[in-house]
Amino acid sequence: MNSLAPHLKAKALKPNSRRPAKELCSECGLCDTYYIHYVKDACAFLHQQIADLEAAAHGKSRDLNQENDLYFGVHQEMMAAKKKQAIPGAQWTGIVSTIACEMLDRGLVEGVVCVQNTAEDRFQPQPILARTIEEILAAKVNKPTLSPNLSVLEEIEKSGMKRLLVIGVGCQIQALRAVEKKLGLEKLYVLGTPCVDNVTRSGLQKFLETTSRSPETVVHYEFMQDFRVHFQHEDGSIEMVPFFGLKTNKLKDVFAPSCMTCFDYVNSLADLVVGYMGAPFGWQWIVVRNDTGKEMLELVKDQLNTQDVMSSGDRKQAVQNSIPAYDKGVTLPMWAAKMMGVVIEKIGPKGLEYARFSIDSHFTRNYLYVKRNYPEKLANHVPEYAKKIVEQYKLPD
Ligand code: FAD
Ligand code: SF4
Repeated sequence: MNSLAPHLKAKALKPNSRRPAKELCSECGLCDTYYIHYVKDACAFLHQQIADLEAAAHGKSRDLNQENDLYFGVHQEMMAAKKKQAIPGAQWTGIVSTIACEMLDRGLVEGVVCVQNTAEDRFQPQPILARTIEEILAAKVNKPTLSPNLSVLEEIEKSGMKRLLVIGVGCQIQALRAVEKKLGLEKLYVLGTPCVDNVTRSGLQKFLETTSRSPETVVHYEFMQDFRVHFQHEDGSIEMVPFFGLKTNKLKDVFAPSCMTCFDYVNSLADLVVGYMGAPFGWQWIVVRNDTGKEMLELVKDQLNTQDVMSSGDRKQAVQNSIPAYDKGVTLPMWAAKMMGVVIEKIGPKGLEYARFSIDSHFTRNYLYVKRNYPEKLANHVPEYAKKIVEQYKLPD
């Protein structure tokens, strides 16, 4: 054991005590460990350093003059994919869980950081250091709540593990990359998902109660590329609610303040990212950022159907229209929302253009939020790529 490491003398914060990032804390879990020693440098909300960490992880930071780099981060390759045989109960087709299982099975890693749910509550996150295929599979499907995935970091150092896979969302991965060299690992693999508009467990309850016809039976939901939220219920039925019919006035404060100030939607620092928003409806979207990511994807390529990414439509006007609508908390009557959803689905942005639509609408909203609530953070907290994206639009004061 490295007895000189300074973090070993630090103490985790007690649960429920105020975190250094205060109300901007995303509960990433770092402060639940002695790695809190590095929090000032590592916390995604106290020290935004995506460009430097990109250079360290991928050998270069994104080229702001290349549109795909500007939007999706450093990458070698992007594609649409789905598993030939989906994992039942996974969020999409289970590509993330399958990669993790293969890596453990083939001995590339000794453990996997992922998040299960508690026995009592399907949406309450329970991060674990999985050492078996069963434990990885029990972590499938999104826990659509802030999750302290990094809270298991102390366990890693204590276990003496040298090869590790971490699955996580952007804020968790930013803090992880900042302390990566302190973990005593020989090899770290990082498998990321995009993430946006996350909520606390109580915020999730409010969202479900405001939006679904039967909040208590929802097992899974996703904001889909067809501009509708798809809720899957216990009996297998799917309920669809158009984005434009969401009660934005009631939901305005539901998203966590951390997520309202986040500009790392695409998980810039993971080796490999698996989401859906840059792919046609029904497909997942894969971004290979570096050689490590490519090595991970190769393990499962024979289990996937793949196709090239595509892009069509023009997002710009829809984004510009969404800015004052969100700002004023406008909610359309349901019949109008449904009609608008149908029209937009027919003629609206698809594939990478849909991903750019989602990034633009969230970045403009978040930029305004930071400007109004944390003006002192605007200059350093908003990354250069996000400023360039936001500059394309006319924002209210
Ligand atoms: P599965 O095989 O079902 O595995 C899911 C994995 O996610 C598990 O390993 C689990 O450990 C991990 N996980 C679950 N919940 C969390 C959490 N709260 N924090 C960290 N890790 C978690 N993709 C987009 O393209 N656009 C989006 O806007 C978008 N928003 C998302 C918001 C959230 C809160 C999350 C967690 C994911 C989001 N994703 C988004 C990713 C997408 O929904 C799927 O997770 C991804 O495509 C992988 O699907 P899968 O079937 O391969 O995953
Ligand atoms: Fe600590 Fe993570 Fe919260 Fe930042 S976001 S204060 S690192 S727990």
